[in-house]
Amino acid sequence: MSLLVVGSVAFDTVETHAGRREDVLGGSATFFSTAASFFTPVRLVAVVGEDFPEHHVAELQARGVETAGLQRQPGKTFRWEGRYDDLNEATTLDTQLNVFEHFKPELPTGFEQSDYVFLANIDPVLQGQVLDQIRAPRLVALDTMNFWIEDIIPGKRAALEAVIRRVDLLFVNDKEAELLSGEDNVVKAAQRIRDMGPSTVVIKRGEFGALMFSSDGIFAVPAMPLEQVVDPTGAGDSFAGGFMGFLAASGRVDAEGIRRAAVAGSVTASFAVEDFSLDRLKSLDKGQISKRYTAFRDLVRIPE
Ligand code: AMP
Repeated sequence: MSLLVVGSVAFDTVETHAGRREDVLGGSATFFSTAASFFTPVRLVAVVGEDFPEHHVAELQARGVETAGLQRQPGKTFRWEGRYDDLNEATTLDTQLNVFEHFKPELPTGFEQSDYVFLANIDPVLQGQVLDQIRAPRLVALDTMNFWIEDIIPGKRAALEAVIRRVDLLFVNDKEAELLSGEDNVVKAAQRIRDMGPSTVVIKRGEFGALMFSSDGIFAVPAMPLEQVVDPTGAGDSFAGGFMGFLAASGRVDAEGIRRAAVAGSVTASFAVEDFSLDRLKSLDKGQISKRYTAFRDLVRIPE
C-alpha cells in the first residue's frame, strides 16, 4: 500500500556531546522517508533550494523514494541548528525557513491516491494543504514541534489545531504533549489530545521509549538501551518512518498491527541515533532491523 510524506528536507548544524557537524543532510521528511524505505516505497513531497546537491536526491531514489514531489526552487534550502545538552531534548538555536516560506505543495498525478499519509514536522498550513489534496486515505498521521505549538510565527498554533482535528494519529514528544494540552501528566495530556481529534496518540519519551494511547488502551513501547547515543536528531522522524512504513507494508491497522508497527518504529529510531545525520540509516540493512526487532521481544518478555 502507498505511503506519502510531506515534510522538511534540510541542512542541519548539530552539536552533541559527541561533536559538531555543520550543514549535514537532515529534515523531517528525509529521516522519515529513509527510515520507511526499509519497509515500503515512499512518495516524498518537499522543497529544496538551488544549493541542494543532486546526489542526495539520487540516493533517496536508490532507496525507493519517489521524488517527483520534491520541488527545486530559487533560493536556499531550509536550515536548522540545534544543540543537545540533554540527549532527550534539542535546543533550537536557529531556524531558517528559506524556500519553505513560499512553498506551495502540489501533488504529482497519482500521489493524491495514497493510502497512508505522514504529515511530518513542517508548517501546519502546508500540512493542511497536502491533506486537502489527498482523496481517501486509510490513515493520516502527523508530527509537529514546539516551534509551531508555541505560535512563534503568529497564527501557526491555530493552523496546527485545525489540521490535528483531521488526523488519525499524532506523534509528539512528552514536552510537546504538555505544551499542546496544557497538562504535565502524560496520561491526562494524551486524553486531552485525543479529544482534539486523533484517535491514537503516540507520546515519545526519548531513551525511555514511547506510550501509545488509543481505544485499545495504553501500550508501552520500549526503547533499545544503547551504550552510546551520538546524535538524537531525526529520532522522532525515524520512529514515525519505521512505524508508518511497517503499517503500509502490512496493511494491518488493527490494534495488534499498530502495536507491531510501534515496535518497528522504535527499532528504526534506535539505529538513527547511533551516528550523526542519516549516516547510520544509510549503512543499515533489513537484517539488522529484524535482529533488533527480535531482541525487543526479549527485552519485554515477562514470565507467566
Ligand atoms: P526530530 O526527528 O524531531 O529530531 O527532527 C529533526 C529534524 O527536524 C531535523 O533534521 C530538522 O531539519 C527538522 N526541523 C527542525 N525544526 C523544524 C521546523 N521548524 N520545521 C520543519 N522541520 C524542522
